[in-house]
Amino acid sequence: MAGAVTLVSPVLSVESASAAALTKAERDRMTPDDIIQAMKLGNERFRRGQRTRQEEYLAQQRASAKGQYPAAVILSCIDSRAPAEMIMDLGIGDVFNARVAGNIANDDILGSIEFACQVAGAKVILVMGHTACGAIKGAIDRVQLGNLTGLLAKIQPAVDATSYQGERSAKNYAFVDAVARKNVELTMAEIHSRSAVIGALETKGTVKIAGAMYNLETAEVGFFPTASKQ
Ligand SMILES: [Zn+2]
Repeated sequence: MAGAVTLVSPVLSVESASAAALTKAERDRMTPDDIIQAMKLGNERFRRGQRTRQEEYLAQQRASAKGQYPAAVILSCIDSRAPAEMIMDLGIGDVFNARVAGNIANDDILGSIEFACQVAGAKVILVMGHTACGAIKGAIDRVQLGNLTGLLAKIQPAVDATSYQGERSAKNYAFVDAVARKNVELTMAEIHSRSAVIGALETKGTVKIAGAMYNLETAEVGFFPTASKQ
């Protein structure tokens, strides 16, 4: 199985993973569901302490220097404890990663995602929120601070749309996490509705929008059920 990488072939055992970066042919023969499955398996390796893609960064750097063929684009929070590549055992060249507090979509994020998919060929858009998110807490508390005010306003619709029986405060972690989950759902919907470019790729079946929540306590990336059925 020389040349095969873990991200490309989710059925491969950890032992057969190689260090090479994704080639165009490898990326192109993966389906969106293959890619989502590979990210799930990468998170399982991370939780077992069996990271493999991160042991050969230099080889991946050399292999990808002349061109990149990432399989996915991830939109995630800036939180220092939720680095997408690390927690899903991804290597250099495997994915694009847009990070912004509260993993919201704006025009520039949408443009970045459109570049990743339409121009560079990524097949999965993963919106990943996380537990105990400070941006979500800030939106719940309606924090006013410089440019942060405008960013938190983009999370406010998720606060308002979260139906929750109990204390609706930033001190209630269950509510905070419910809002974070709703925020991922709304961001997924926004990418779908505001990007005709992505919409066309979805219709063709070449791109899938997936959602997930990363649990800071358990280290598990919990993919939303619809991700593999859409
Ligand atoms: Zn966060």
